[in-house]
Order: sequence, then structure tokens, then C-alpha cells
Amino acid sequence: MVWTRHADRHPARGPHPAAARRPRRGKPPRHFADLTPAERAQAVVDLGEKPFRAKQLATHYFTHLTSDPQAMTDLPAATRDVLAETLFPPLLEKARVLEADGGTTVKTLWHLFDGAKVESVLMRYPHRSTLCVSSQAGCGMACPFCATGQLGLTRNLSTAEIVEQVRSAARSLADGEIPGGPARLNNLVFMGMGEPLANYKAVMGTVRTLVAKEPEGLGMSARNVTVSTVGLVPAMRKLADEGIPVTLALSLHAPDDELRSELVPINTRWSVDEALDAARHYFEVTGRRVSIEYALIRDMNDHAWRADLLGDKLNARGRGWVHVNPIPLNPTPGSIWTASDPAVEAEFVARLREHGIPTTIRDTRGSDIDGACGQLAAEEE
Ligand code: SAH
Repeated sequence: MVWTRHADRHPARGPHPAAARRPRRGKPPRHFADLTPAERAQAVVDLGEKPFRAKQLATHYFTHLTSDPQAMTDLPAATRDVLAETLFPPLLEKARVLEADGGTTVKTLWHLFDGAKVESVLMRYPHRSTLCVSSQAGCGMACPFCATGQLGLTRNLSTAEIVEQVRSAARSLADGEIPGGPARLNNLVFMGMGEPLANYKAVMGTVRTLVAKEPEGLGMSARNVTVSTVGLVPAMRKLADEGIPVTLALSLHAPDDELRSELVPINTRWSVDEALDAARHYFEVTGRRVSIEYALIRDMNDHAWRADLLGDKLNARGRGWVHVNPIPLNPTPGSIWTASDPAVEAEFVARLREHGIPTTIRDTRGSDIDGACGQLAAEEE
């Protein structure tokens, strides 16, 4: 497959409009999508407007997916400009767009107000669409097989910086920009750059906005939102208590502490057993079946005995609470590691299934535009 740069959607380069006006440090400007519905009403009142204007703005933003004041024709012109300028500061600048799979996989590189860079990947399938968003610029978790892990952490994203990734993708689907006709965004996965549970507050703010009914939010189903984590145990337990049954994915990659501590360094803080106990707890509280992510790395973690050990550890915590998603490793630049041999992968899957564990190989869509899991590095040409 060949990727193409989407020249006609590539905006003119230049300083980010927000960067020109603001110091390039500190927090991103406050945006409508950072606020709760009550805070939105207050913000509108603070600008001298009637509270009902907040609902009009929400309808434009979450239902019509626009923050362009020109489109808000039900607002008086003067009001429009004041509200839009104050509440919809530009947060993301589309710096580069790469496509694969005939335009149905789209990776976007975003420049943030302070020059930080993140990426998101939209994948359209025949009957659904999934957006993979970033929750941090870079990542502090340092997993050696992951491209983002090599960057270190630049900073947390704000809620609105994450929501804007979603709005932009939902808008391009709604506008019919992705081959296959106009469509809705069905699934959202926090599997882009960053460790979502290390940016807990902004990620939860995003989740609340995603699942809030229109026009207060995007009206998505919680089960169609997946939060993926290296296994930050206290945050996993906190997430269970939120009363929003999102799907939880645990990036395990090894069933034994010795190897896992090498592949997922935070394992030295919370062990395999502690992470699995927290995952099981999540299932007990929410009733949502947990996903175990397992990148299959040749001769590293793909041994049949490790499949057996994983099956035993999962079954020791009950039945029907978990499924496993092996992912063939997406090789990252400079890494000596590569994906498992297909026969070895098949044996690994067979062993898990023999243990009665539902197991589905995850596709590696977008790998040719470095848009697959673990490849996001937000590099510039
Ligand atoms: N920090 C979160 C989410 C980011 S990545 C987490 O670790 O879960 C989403 C998934 O991609 C994780 O399961 C991650 O381990 C996996 N991944 C990272 N690098 C990869 C690579 N090179 N090949 C395949 N999967 C990878």
C-alpha cells in the first residue's frame, strides 16, 4: 500500500494563530470543550449573554461539529464573534495528513498552541469507524518497543485538546470526506500517544463529554470508548468507580514479572498480578469485559509456555471476564525487535483458546503510514 500526502487539505504553514497571541508556555487556552454544561452557562453569562446561548453553542459544536462563528446564524452577529473568539480559541492546527487503505485510514499530525505535536488516526471499516486519539504529547512510560515511549513526556493534553481531535474526525466523517459516504464516528480508543490514566482528569473530562447526550456532548456509547493503560493500578480502580462503563484495555505483553518489567517498565511499581487484579476488579464493578493487549514480539514474549501462563493467570481470576488481543508487533525505527512468526502467533492464539480465553488478533491497519499502535512519534519530515 502507498500513502499519499493530502495536499489539498494541507493548510498553509505559518505560526499557529494561538501561538502568535500567547506565550508558548503554560496551559492551553480555556475552551468550551473544557467546561461542564453548568460551567458553559456560567461562561456565557460572564460574557454578558443569556444562559440559553450555551445550549446554542453546544448544538453547533457537538451536533453540527463546528466552532466557526459564521455558521452560527441563529446568534446575533456581534454575539457570535465575542462568544466564538472567547470560547473557541484554536487549539489544534492540522500540520500533516497521511492516508492509507484507499483513504479509509487517515493519520493527522497536529501542532498544539505551544509547538507540542500529537497524532490521531481515523480508521473507517465497512460498518463502523474508529478514532485513535492522543492523550499526552509524548509519553513517560518508556516501553522500549513503542515509538511514542522513546520520546519521553512533553506534557498532558487538556480535555479540549483531546475533544478537538474527536470533533475534527467526526466532522470529516459527517462531511463525507472519507470514502464510503457520510458516516458517524462509532468508536473512540485512547491508544494514540500517551498514557491516558496518567492524565486522568483531562481524560475523564473527555469521556464525560463523549458520552453526554447531544447537544451537551457527542452522544457516544461508553462501551464504544476504550481506555488503554500500562496498568496504573490506583487509577484503574478509580476508573471503576466513575459509573461510566468504558471498555478497559490492559497492555500486558508478558505474563511474568521478569519479562514484563523489561517491556513495560512501570511493572516494577505494579506487578502483573496487581494489574490483573485491578483489571478483574474493573470487570466486577462495571460488568465490562476487559481486553488484554499483547504485542507479539519474535522470540521475546511469544513462547507457548507464556501463552499457557497467561491463560492460567486469567482463569485463576474467573471465567468470562476477559479477552485477549494479540497484536503483531509493529516494528519501530531503530528497534531490533520484530513481529512473531505466523506459525508461532497461531500457536500462541491456539493455546489461549484451549484455556477457554476468547482471543482475537488485532489488525495492524495504518502501519504503512506509521499509524498503527505504538508507531505514533509525531515526527516531521
Ligand atoms: N499508554 C497506553 C496506550 C497507548 S498505545 C497503553 O500502553 O496501553 C496502545 C497499544 O499499542 C498498547 O497496548 C501498546 O502497548 C501497544 N503498542 C505500543 N507499541 C507497539 C508496537 N510497536 N506494536 C504493537 N503494539 C504496540
